[in-house]
Amino acid sequence: MTDSSIKTNLISVELARNTVLDNVKLLPTEKISILESNGRVLAEDISSDIDISPFDNTAMDGFAVRFEDFAELAEALQQTSEASEADDKPAPTLQLKIVGRIGAGEVYEDVLQTGQALRIMTGAPMPSGADTVVKIEDTKVLGITDACPEGSDVVFTRVPKCGEHVRAKGEEAAKGQVLLRTGDIINPASIGLMAATGNAEVLVYRRPRVTIISTGDELVDIDTVPGPGQIRNSNSYSIAAQVIDAGGIAKIMPKAEDTFEGLESAVKAALVESDFVITSGGASDGDFDYVAPVVRELGEMHFSKVNMKPGKAQVFGIIDNTLFFGLSGNPGAASVGFEVIVRPALLKMQGFSAVKRVAVKAVCDVPVKKKDEKRRLYMRSHLSRDDAGVFHVTPDPNQSSALLGALTHSNCLLVVPEGDGSVAAGDTVCCIRLDVLEGSI
Ligand code: AMP
Ligand code: MG
Repeated sequence: MTDSSIKTNLISVELARNTVLDNVKLLPTEKISILESNGRVLAEDISSDIDISPFDNTAMDGFAVRFEDFAELAEALQQTSEASEADDKPAPTLQLKIVGRIGAGEVYEDVLQTGQALRIMTGAPMPSGADTVVKIEDTKVLGITDACPEGSDVVFTRVPKCGEHVRAKGEEAAKGQVLLRTGDIINPASIGLMAATGNAEVLVYRRPRVTIISTGDELVDIDTVPGPGQIRNSNSYSIAAQVIDAGGIAKIMPKAEDTFEGLESAVKAALVESDFVITSGGASDGDFDYVAPVVRELGEMHFSKVNMKPGKAQVFGIIDNTLFFGLSGNPGAASVGFEVIVRPALLKMQGFSAVKRVAVKAVCDVPVKKKDEKRRLYMRSHLSRDDAGVFHVTPDPNQSSALLGALTHSNCLLVVPEGDGSVAAGDTVCCIRLDVLEGSI
């Protein structure tokens, strides 16, 4: 297909999506508070300025001890297990002197000596000399008094493993180690790691600023009761919500008139401080449809018709280096067109590497008749799993491109390929999941 025919011909969904994606540039970066960074894409590597944890510490409330002190107890326990049951000796034990008590944040300044144990709480640094922690439940503490709440002695009846319950210094990260990389999607655990490495702010790719213009003389604001021939402008709101859902910042402009000049001046105004301009309505070839003529006049038109249903009339162009997308006015078509073509572009602008929704195979539970329609169908549908884990899908009975209702309770788009083929009940079909993020498995 030549460049000029792409602009006027019905083109495939793949060509439309790739044409848009090929023209997407990564947005500039910005520094933001880590608290606001959840779900954003990192634009820098994050490495650790310290060892995490900076010191060996205990994983349990218990006693820090020297493992070598248990040698005799180990031998005695060995002999006991070999002796006959007739020997009625008391079970062997080890008794150590309690030399103090520390909690997290405190440091034991002395070296733990042979015969000594330090009462120690989770997160407290291991005293030097000690190499093992025995948890409190496995000990018996003697001599607890008001003056000596930690006790005077501690008795052990079992031998720990050397190093047990000790968390090593640098277990999470060594100083200088790269923990997070450019392109990673930030999640709450990443935010915790950034906090642990002293980063209050982080460099991420900016959110796209998307300006939305609905065009249509029949449209009234949502706080107005429509008069004869009028309807409320619902698309600006549903599209804005889709923009926000894709990580963008949505700005709704006042509706544009159904005249060339009206739409042209609205688009010019929208281009200021926008990374992406989206219109709804007027994208077809009707008497009052001015989207394609305005794009041709102001910038470079890339395509105007896509081989899909709903959403055949969709205009893509570039005006003053800003991406422009003209969605259909039909609410269902606008929503599906956004999902299939605009959303991947918004994700790519923000640095997301996965921009394709997850597709699954499902058994179609009802027949789908294609009539004479040759376009690819995106049917608003409901996907579920049976007891054996097999996906089943049922399209909403009303697939009109004018309606949004089907999408309010759909969790997938059932794809019926281009051509004559209909789907019989029981056939396997491909479904694009709307309920999991791109990159999910
Ligand atoms: P159009 O794409 O302009 O031919 O409009 C197709 C259909 O969508 C018409 O029935 C319009 O009234 C309706 N429509 C256009 N814009 C909107 C909008 N912003 N909100 C709701 N419906 C709209
Ligand atoms: Mg219209």
